[in-house]
Amino acid sequence: MMDFKEEKKVFSSFLKGRGLKHTAQREEILKAFLSEERHFTAEDLYLLLKEKKPAIGFATVYRTLKLLCEANLASEVYLEGSRVRYEHKYRHEMHEHIVCVNCGKTIELKVPEMESLTKKIEKKYKFKLTEHRLKLFGKCEECRRDKNEE
Ligand SMILES: [Zn+2]
Ligand SMILES: [Zn+2]
Repeated sequence: MMDFKEEKKVFSSFLKGRGLKHTAQREEILKAFLSEERHFTAEDLYLLLKEKKPAIGFATVYRTLKLLCEANLASEVYLEGSRVRYEHKYRHEMHEHIVCVNCGKTIELKVPEMESLTKKIEKKYKFKLTEHRLKLFGKCEECRRDKNEE
């Protein structure tokens, strides 16, 4: 079991800076968020928490996720569909995603070539890029096997 001391510290000082309280509910949401190494929606996290902590409402989960993003602990990812998903940011390296259009399986990958590509683009368009998102869509091995596709 990982302890999330550092993340808790980051969140606490962020909340303090905003004049917000580090409530027990916010702490529970942070813990649940950090325990899941997935890309999930606010609804997913809410349903996960609901079993153990029925007092926590959806709006609180949603707002806390937004705060976690502002505190640089979480980031929003847009994978398939229009629903925003969340993933860990703190102590996680920049990565890209491949998404299966059939079952939604998501794989994280590092693309070393992105760095030199980014530099080329910056030079050509005289931009300083602060962020990039490469999204790759396709069908995973299992989904192709089910339908006997190549
Ligand atoms: Zn699939
Ligand atoms: Zn990811």
